[in-house]
Amino acid sequence: SKIDPLDIWRILKSAGVKYVKPILMDIHGRPRAELMPIDAAKDILTDGMPFDGSSIPAYATVNKSDFVALPDFRSIFIESWNSAKIVDVFLSVLDDSGKPNVLDPRNVLMQTLAELAAEGMYVKMGVEVEFFIVKENGGKPELADDGLYFEGRNSAVLLNPISKILENLEALGIGWSKVHHEVAPSQYEINIPVNDPLKIADMMTIYKLMARDVAGEFNLISTFMPKPFWGINGSGAHTHISIWKDGVNLFESKTEEATEQCRYAIGGILKFARAISVLVAPTVNSYKRLVPHHEAPTRIVWGYANRSAMIRIPYYNKRVNRIEYRHPDPSMNPYLAFTAMIKAAVYGIKNKVEPPAPITDIAYDLKGVPETPVNLGEAVEEFAKSEAFNFLPSETAKAYVEVKNQEWSEYSAVYNWKETWNVITPWEYERYLKAA
Ligand code: GLN
Ligand code: MG
Ligand code: MG
Ligand code: MG
Repeated sequence: SKIDPLDIWRILKSAGVKYVKPILMDIHGRPRAELMPIDAAKDILTDGMPFDGSSIPAYATVNKSDFVALPDFRSIFIESWNSAKIVDVFLSVLDDSGKPNVLDPRNVLMQTLAELAAEGMYVKMGVEVEFFIVKENGGKPELADDGLYFEGRNSAVLLNPISKILENLEALGIGWSKVHHEVAPSQYEINIPVNDPLKIADMMTIYKLMARDVAGEFNLISTFMPKPFWGINGSGAHTHISIWKDGVNLFESKTEEATEQCRYAIGGILKFARAISVLVAPTVNSYKRLVPHHEAPTRIVWGYANRSAMIRIPYYNKRVNRIEYRHPDPSMNPYLAFTAMIKAAVYGIKNKVEPPAPITDIAYDLKGVPETPVNLGEAVEEFAKSEAFNFLPSETAKAYVEVKNQEWSEYSAVYNWKETWNVITPWEYERYLKAA
């Protein structure tokens, strides 16, 4: 049975919702939205929201810029963190013929999952979102606590914002399974429980919106830029993946060794890791995180319980059931990044891509193994020339390459990479501190 939009409207209205905020995702993974009173939203919930694509990167040129987006009622969140009574409704952008438009990243991930479902397959994902809560000082971030990994003392400055973020994750129905102080001062990690990839991506989007607003109330900034400070750990978004077929987890092993299918999935991801880097680590700043000795990967290798490897097999109960891909960071567009990871893993399974042997050494010192791209410029090039370009619809892949080339040339117009690979520039703070 289909959902009647008017029923949704009635439920929202009687729940006291005052404003509807229809959200569409841009190519960077940034939410774009407008606000309207609940009474005026009836039509939009039913017939869709018109918008001007010409002002949203990748959408359209001004001569063909009228778009309509339909609400996706599987993803509704009431903004619990403010008193305005706003409901966030994710949209799906349509093209002229009324079909899902591929420039909408949600549509791309939905399509990927639908193709898998047609083969009896589905994916479960979990994501560990790391971020800093910082003070602002003249456009620059400043550390707000001196905590350590698994800090046992409460942070005088950050206890209140963190507990408010956690309360809101519960109130939003997203939930959280764990939180801890991360390795760097002012850095936390909150784990969003395992779910379907589209749900995880939507939840991550709402969670970032909320965490920024909550920190703002304390005159602090929640930042998801991957490397806010040189010399200390950056923030990753390690993604845990298992692939299921006909109700069976292909990665579930009763032993300490990865299953054959799990190995092939690893083979697929490692094969395409350089090419999909621009999707999972998509900003100029991402490549300052991917440097040795900060628990972020630089070598394209895998291992059991090895935190210097790009893919780690979590190894707590002497049995394997998932992989942890450590390359992604929280500035990614999760819809496009998840699509790329899933396609690479499934490619590996279908083509029986055997990965090299797992490594036990510290990966950073290994010689003769492939490495992550050195910067965003190299990452875009790798994607543009790879078979992985076809992991996205061609229109989407082209648009993505265009915006990322643009971002790289804007940076390169001001800075020389060779001189700035080891400093965080004002350009990055301006561009990513609050927005990534
Ligand atoms: N912050 C590290 C990264 O950039 C990860 C640290 C950890 O989770 N142990 O990926
Ligand atoms: Mg963790
Ligand atoms: Mg962590
Ligand atoms: Mg991890």
